[in-house]
Amino acid sequence: MAVPGYVLKHRRTTFERAEKFISSTFFTDVNLYGKLYPLRTDIKGIKHRALPGLITRHSAVTFEEAIKGIYEETRVGASFGPTWATHWFRLDIEIPREWGLGKQVVLVWDSGSEAMIWRDGKPLQGLSPDNKRTEFVLTKSLDENAFSHTLYIEMECSDVFGAGKGGLINPPDPNKYYTLRRADIVVKDPEIYQLLLDFEVLLDLIKHLPEESNRSYQLLYGVNEMVTTCQSQSNYSRARDIAHTLLSETNSQSQHTLCAVGHCHIDTAWLWPYEETKRKCARSWSSTVRLMKDFPEFIFACSQAQQFDWVKVNYPSLYADIKDYVRQQRFIPVGGTWVEMDGNIPSGEAFIRQFLYGQRFFEQEFGKRCTEFWLPDTFGYSAQLPQIMKHAGIARFVTQKLSWNLVNKFPHHTFWWQGLDGSRVLTHFPPGDSYGMDGKVEEVMRSLNNFKDKGRSNHSMYLFGYGDGGQGPTTDMLERLTRLKNVDGIPKVTMCSPETFFSTVETHEAENLCSWTGELYLELHNGTYTTHSRLKQQNRRAEILLRQFELLSTLSHVVGEGGGRKTDYPAGKIEQLWKIVLLNQFHDVLPGTSIQEVCEEAGRLYEDVLREGSVLLADSANQLIDTLTPQGGCTEHGTARIINTCSWQRSEVICWPEVTLADRLIEMAGVTTQAGRDGKTLVFVSDIPSVGHCELRPAVKLPVPVTVQKQGDDLICIRNGHIEAAVDKTGRVVRLCMVNDVSRNVVSVGSHANQFVIFDDVPLFWDAWDVMDYHLETRTAVVDIIEEATIVESGPLRATIKTSLRISDKSTICQYMSLDTGAKYLKFYTEVDWHESHKFLKVEFPLRITSPQVTYEIQFGHVQRPNHFNTSWDWARFEVCGHKWADLSEYDWGVAVLNDSHYGWSCIDSVLRLSLLRSSKSPDPTADMGKHKFTYGLMPHSGTFQSAGVIQAAYELNEPLVCCGQCADHSSTAASYFSIDNSAVILETVKKAENCNSVILRLYEVYGGTTTVRVKTSFKVTSAHLCSGLEDSLDGAIEIEDGNCLVLHFSPFQIMSVKLTLGTTTPN
Ligand SMILES: [Zn+2]
Repeated sequence: MAVPGYVLKHRRTTFERAEKFISSTFFTDVNLYGKLYPLRTDIKGIKHRALPGLITRHSAVTFEEAIKGIYEETRVGASFGPTWATHWFRLDIEIPREWGLGKQVVLVWDSGSEAMIWRDGKPLQGLSPDNKRTEFVLTKSLDENAFSHTLYIEMECSDVFGAGKGGLINPPDPNKYYTLRRADIVVKDPEIYQLLLDFEVLLDLIKHLPEESNRSYQLLYGVNEMVTTCQSQSNYSRARDIAHTLLSETNSQSQHTLCAVGHCHIDTAWLWPYEETKRKCARSWSSTVRLMKDFPEFIFACSQAQQFDWVKVNYPSLYADIKDYVRQQRFIPVGGTWVEMDGNIPSGEAFIRQFLYGQRFFEQEFGKRCTEFWLPDTFGYSAQLPQIMKHAGIARFVTQKLSWNLVNKFPHHTFWWQGLDGSRVLTHFPPGDSYGMDGKVEEVMRSLNNFKDKGRSNHSMYLFGYGDGGQGPTTDMLERLTRLKNVDGIPKVTMCSPETFFSTVETHEAENLCSWTGELYLELHNGTYTTHSRLKQQNRRAEILLRQFELLSTLSHVVGEGGGRKTDYPAGKIEQLWKIVLLNQFHDVLPGTSIQEVCEEAGRLYEDVLREGSVLLADSANQLIDTLTPQGGCTEHGTARIINTCSWQRSEVICWPEVTLADRLIEMAGVTTQAGRDGKTLVFVSDIPSVGHCELRPAVKLPVPVTVQKQGDDLICIRNGHIEAAVDKTGRVVRLCMVNDVSRNVVSVGSHANQFVIFDDVPLFWDAWDVMDYHLETRTAVVDIIEEATIVESGPLRATIKTSLRISDKSTICQYMSLDTGAKYLKFYTEVDWHESHKFLKVEFPLRITSPQVTYEIQFGHVQRPNHFNTSWDWARFEVCGHKWADLSEYDWGVAVLNDSHYGWSCIDSVLRLSLLRSSKSPDPTADMGKHKFTYGLMPHSGTFQSAGVIQAAYELNEPLVCCGQCADHSSTAASYFSIDNSAVILETVKKAENCNSVILRLYEVYGGTTTVRVKTSFKVTSAHLCSGLEDSLDGAIEIEDGNCLVLHFSPFQIMSVKLTLGTTTPN
């Protein structure tokens, strides 16, 4: 019977008629959805393993262990917990014979929690009711052999986003129990399923195409005909034919193309611990692999070598399947890094190690490196990343996080991102503004509508699949996208790899694209530079400790080889420690935005690195000194030695560590000492050679001794040969001058530098993440004195003033402000006992400097940012990230603030503030609570910060000289293994090459200028080549003078890696 064409079709009723026809809620007794599952039955005899003592938090066991032991019967309605525990179930499924052959039979399991299906020891598929994944296909077509199934289910007692009590980012409920809501088998009609998807996609098209469009009405009438055909004739294949015809109306050539890439962003830890992430990977990736069998065009991108490594170790059968799909170029490793790290806080070397260890893993496992850097969810991107990426051999970058900007809309989706040194990488932000889309028409259209580079580019990426907590693409998503390949009126959707997408853009569109220079600042989450300050301090220390350990191990290895006393280079240990640090640099761990359990575990891991690293550093130092000692050693003539791991000569006051022979050695050396306030001995050491060492020896010329005295009732004055300062009773600096120009006070008139200030810190939602602009309106100065400024050390090597302040009735500050002889800056050793809630502690320095911009150190360089709020882009950056120093300078004069562990800064109208502690309560209610010890410095200078040595001073504050008090022979010889004739270049890294016996040097230009330097080494240089950050040889010979001096030409902020083959030591 023909559908009467004359019936008036009201748009809304026609549309809603079809909507109700596929509703899973309304009219299911008669509608199409009601026919999807024609048969169902409970699973009988569900068995649960309830071994006392086995099922506890994080008690994940292997499949082999899990299937042993006694299983007891349980039922739907029973509850299991607590949070993070795993429970195992055994299902012996018998499909009723009366269902008949040929049916598709599906297991439905909803334990309210995450779960994994296992069979014969293999993980088959993840289940996640949060992400509507509760079905597992037992058989697509029931045959005689498929009536019986034995499966195991590993139930994980958490939601896909952990177990926040009463809200997503709330601290987890440790005692959450999950109820088994459903466990049955059903017949699922595949034809009805396909037709439901047809309806859904067509209805979405009608909804999102312009209402007045011709196309929208054509589809509406077509869908109406489908409903009528199904209802009046039960002719589903005819309805499918109509759908097919409607969806086969294609676009013209000019239509935009979306490159659809499946993925499942899995946070390596966040609202769940690292341990749980291993299982998340298995659940998500097993589901993905299963989908690949059904959808031959499906392509899935996957980042983070660490997660691959976990799956390799814990789920070998799944890993074998993944390897297979990697070979087929469908499961595509992307990113090239060990984890998706924070983009602001890690050091430059740490960034390089992310790529070095990440790409080495991908190459070893899959025979191929990743071709694009992948960081969709990180909170801002350092201006140095383009160069670091290129140094690691990658010139393409994918993220989308800048769509979270609170104030300004980023003007591009496909563009050239130009870094600090001018390096350009092709960068793409998927314009759907999400990395977790689900194949809906609305997202496809949004992707095109948002796309900012129309006219320049006709391609963009579309990332689909459930993310953050993992799980990834689903059958529904893939079915939808299959229907949207080329539908008139909306962008074309093609499954393709990121590689294909970038190649297309590079080939056809690259020349049209605009560029963006400098950092990609995220106008949100800028509290993450400060939250969990202790983790950031541990991270800084670990990065520096590993630098020193690696450098000394390399030197002792090379010296040992030359001198015949070989030492083993601890390559495995170095890699192991680095990988722990890299893991903790994940973009919710180092930023301090994870739950308490994660932060505590990360803290323990850092502590392990620092403890083990310190022992290893001491060992490598001793080994290096040992190589100087003739075979057989010496017994009587001990010397104390100081090792300098920086690439310039150092002179400073050090606190001699408690080592054997220390006192005797110091006495023997005849150096000037001072008893320090903590019982240790202060010593002035001078002219310690660059990347080298010398024995403890009296200074040829002692600098002007430091003096300290009261001035009237209210001030204490402190002075050395470089600077003088006046401090009030509150410990604030009211005057700070260079001694050669005492008329010029760098502290603003009537103001106080080193003023602690506290702000209300209540963000809109993302507690640990965000500090909002309005916090600046709530400044309160900390001026409540517990113990007024008192002189506690009086020189000649160090003078110190102690002050104690009360922040509130819960929190206090105790500070020791020191000036050393020869030092160019004041040092503030600070102890804070912090127990606040939603308060933000900073220390501020109002400076008498006129400049529109402030300079902040970043990885391998520095950036300038505004000292004002002129435009929306300026004031959106009211809190910024900087590393070891920041500087405010005018012509020939300036002030720098140095620090040993902080990253949050702000500067408006020449008031420079260093952010110290926050007190967010979600997701970790204990974040930043308790005792903290940190140090910062205040350094006035003439000239520029470059010429004044600010950069070197900041290194020295962070990187202690290494003292050896052991018995070594002799020799008053000083050794300098590497030295550079120009302070514009810093030798950042000395390591042994990964694949050969060569030595890798990593240097960078630090001033921001073009320069030629000579790097002299005490070893004979057999060969020298430029290499990449991955240690691949690059073109371009290096000029060598006199057999031991490299001539290197640097452009501004250039990072250079050099591979050296070294011979024996040559005399200095
Ligand atoms: Zn993330």
